[in-house]
Amino acid sequence: MIFNKTGYLMDLDGTVYCGKEPIQGAKEWIEKLIQTNQPFMLVTNNSMRSHQEVADHLAAVSDIQVPLERIYTSIDALLYVLQGDFPKGGEGKACYCIGSPAVKEDLQNFGFQLKEDLKENLEVVVVGLNQDITYYDLATATLAVQKGAKFYLTNPDVQFPSVEGFVPGAGALGEMIGQVARQKPVVCGKPSRVIMEGALNVLNLRADQCVMIGDNLQTDILAANNAQITALLIETGVNTRQDVQEGSGQPDYVVKDYEELMQLWQED
Ligand SMILES: [Mg+2]
Repeated sequence: MIFNKTGYLMDLDGTVYCGKEPIQGAKEWIEKLIQTNQPFMLVTNNSMRSHQEVADHLAAVSDIQVPLERIYTSIDALLYVLQGDFPKGGEGKACYCIGSPAVKEDLQNFGFQLKEDLKENLEVVVVGLNQDITYYDLATATLAVQKGAKFYLTNPDVQFPSVEGFVPGAGALGEMIGQVARQKPVVCGKPSRVIMEGALNVLNLRADQCVMIGDNLQTDILAANNAQITALLIETGVNTRQDVQEGSGQPDYVVKDYEELMQLWQED
């Protein structure tokens, strides 16, 4: 009965693959969505990759081919927010960005002028993950926010996985700048409802027509809760049903893996 829903939003890391390892059954599931013409969107907080780079990674790790318009990142969510805040586009406003080349390119296409210097009367600060960050970058962003620049954070993930453990994610950088400047950023990625709404907007579907499938209670499931989308936790990544508690995201359904998900699909 969950599959009377029309559309599917799906997380990637921990749900479709784990870093560089495919998750069993994910390929067949996504191919089924494609074959049966179900609208779906792969929704990721990762702001370091363009759509093409996400698609290439998906093909390399999981041997899954998806059209680029099936990918929705926290950069897309950022642009969705900016379109609301700046209905006429960037209009050459001075923007300071800590982030990936993919974010910077999209901000320029939006119409902002990317600046490197505090003297430029910065009106907008965008923070995403950039692993080549310097103290100058952090200081400049912090000072610009204190001087009144609008402050956006692509995604609030404090931890970013690496082979040896967690390293600081975009959320950690945003936290640092926000703490010092005493300002909270506008958060675009999960668990913000914004990224869900942006993805629904592209699919042209309402929240009650979709299911969000993800492995993380604090991002995927909470985002679905915040946007009033049916939430399905799949125990292939970060969380299991034992982790559900007061204050965490509350899944409407929990499945162990894709085998169980397929069974639910077939029973419906
Ligand atoms: Mg995940």
